[in-house]
Amino acid sequence: MKLKDKVCLVTGSASGIGRAIATRYVGEGAKVVIADLQQDAAEKTAADLTAAGPGEAIGIAMDVTSEEAVNAGVAAVVARWGRVDVLVSNAGIQIVHKIEDFPFTDWKKMLSIHLDGAFLTTKACVPHMKAQGGGAIIYMGSVHSHEASPLKSAYVTAKHGLLGLARVVAKEGGPHGIRSNVICPGFVRTPLVEKQIPEQSKALGISEEEVVKKMMLSGTVDTQFTTLEDVAEVALLFAGFETNALTGQSLVVSHGWYMQ
Ligand code: NAD
Repeated sequence: MKLKDKVCLVTGSASGIGRAIATRYVGEGAKVVIADLQQDAAEKTAADLTAAGPGEAIGIAMDVTSEEAVNAGVAAVVARWGRVDVLVSNAGIQIVHKIEDFPFTDWKKMLSIHLDGAFLTTKACVPHMKAQGGGAIIYMGSVHSHEASPLKSAYVTAKHGLLGLARVVAKEGGPHGIRSNVICPGFVRTPLVEKQIPEQSKALGISEEEVVKKMMLSGTVDTQFTTLEDVAEVALLFAGFETNALTGQSLVVSHGWYMQ
């Protein structure tokens, strides 16, 4: 087992990609914290994962945009399990509008969840990682950390920003054995993406099938969606890689949509 007894905090893990990563980690023997907005959804996911084993999971309520909630959540994890070995800053949403129609409140909400969330969880975990002699921080970027698409000004700005944060954390954390990397998936069929298909269809005046074929998968080498399991595999690589040889990087898992 690659993560036996490692304490892993995964934000936004009651659903989608975060849940898939948490599932993979528990399968490798980890102690996983499912941190999500709703306590009941987090606890339900944790119970499912613990039942599957061989690791275990607990669920906590955490709004990653609240400094108080993040600090309380990380403190509760350390009180229970004594350490934090892996942070996956994954919680995220999508809001699409043309730039001239983008409500300022939506812009701020997007930047807050993606960037404040990454900053606050990192800030709360780093002191524990330093004290214990190391750790792995993984940010959920996107192909949109490197590429742009119409209607996604806030998302693209936030996902590009995560690359900068990850590089700074890699430099500050290096002497303490803290590694920091970004996963950049292509389109994965989660609730976040299912919601975008009709929205983009309406905004662009094209059919939903055209959104999938022309907007989402046309740049891939095989017109395939990236899967939850693909992303979880990369998250396992970054979590289990034990040296600073792999830090400050982004790994694109997108069926060749973006090649770096
Ligand atoms: P999802 O909607 O299935 O899951 C997102 C989870 O984040 C939900 O459980 C939600 O409750 C939680 N969340 C939202 N706001 C939160 C907050 N303020 N605090 C704590 N939790 C919060 O979406 P997903 O597709 O699994 O997305 C997860 C991450 O992957 C996001 O950062 C997203 O940008 C990124 N991503 C997704 C895709 C894709 O195609 N699905 C591609 C690239 C990157």
